[in-house]
Amino acid sequence: MLNRRSESFEYFEIPVSRRAVTKYNNRDIIYLKRRVNSSGRKNVLRGTIMAEIKEIRFERMRPGELEETAREQPVAWMPLGTLEWHGRHLPVGLDALKAHALCSRIAERAGGVVLPANYFSTGGMPFPWTFKYNPSLTARAVFDTLRRLSAYGFKVIFIITGHYPPHQVLLLMAVAEAFMASSDAVVVALPEFSMAAESGYNGDHAAKWETSLMMELCPDLVDENEMSKLSGKSWLALFQRGIQGENPADAASREAGAEAVAEIIEKYSELADSLLASRDKSAARKVHRKAIADFIEYQTGNIKEQIDKYLVHP
Ligand SMILES: [Zn+2]
Repeated sequence: MLNRRSESFEYFEIPVSRRAVTKYNNRDIIYLKRRVNSSGRKNVLRGTIMAEIKEIRFERMRPGELEETAREQPVAWMPLGTLEWHGRHLPVGLDALKAHALCSRIAERAGGVVLPANYFSTGGMPFPWTFKYNPSLTARAVFDTLRRLSAYGFKVIFIITGHYPPHQVLLLMAVAEAFMASSDAVVVALPEFSMAAESGYNGDHAAKWETSLMMELCPDLVDENEMSKLSGKSWLALFQRGIQGENPADAASREAGAEAVAEIIEKYSELADSLLASRDKSAARKVHRKAIADFIEYQTGNIKEQIDKYLVHP
């Protein structure tokens, strides 16, 4: 049985010569229900189409669909985030929205199921509209979810956290490794930026990169007017507004976001393929060690750069 859902795509151009359209935004289109509105342009149909594409969101799938995925591509993607101030130009659910959108895009390429986003994370900015939970709640929820997924037949599980204070990341890696000690499932827990270093994204807060990612993943949630008020503001002025990193008004772009997203999709897909083939838990542990080493190296350089840039030397 195929997993199906209907979606309408606005302003979608189909070359007429390609009679069998099978991909849209990298997603498999199983069945085209309707093609409307010839644009008048030669060889192109333009307008709204209805397509039925494979469902990957766990909560929307029926038992038969889940059984089929667990049997044929036993990979699960678990997005984590939180509710936290992200400046006045971005939504408070950014980290979870970003993680869920990324998991969905990756799963469309690599297969598997995407769990609903978990908003119960640890730590957060000392700004309004921010929720912080006891680490034991985060750990328990993640551990029990892993246990169920493994019992239902999922062999490779990715925890992707869009909220990444160091203690949150280490907590998730520790839960993943503790779970692997008593399970045959392979579990990798990472912040999404660990897979985007070549694009130059090493994590920030509501600054250039998180804004760029949202421009690509959830563009309707970025308030361009609020963002423009930040133009030219100093690092300190941004910090006082709960924004940490490069000025989003001056540096964020959808192109930068799209490049990072493409790299994240590519690297996670490769890792999913290799872990599905090897089922090697030690490979997952190595991924964790490398991510920690990369993070420390980047942050050490970053702190040195900040000191040179912002501290006045005698
Ligand atoms: Zn964030």
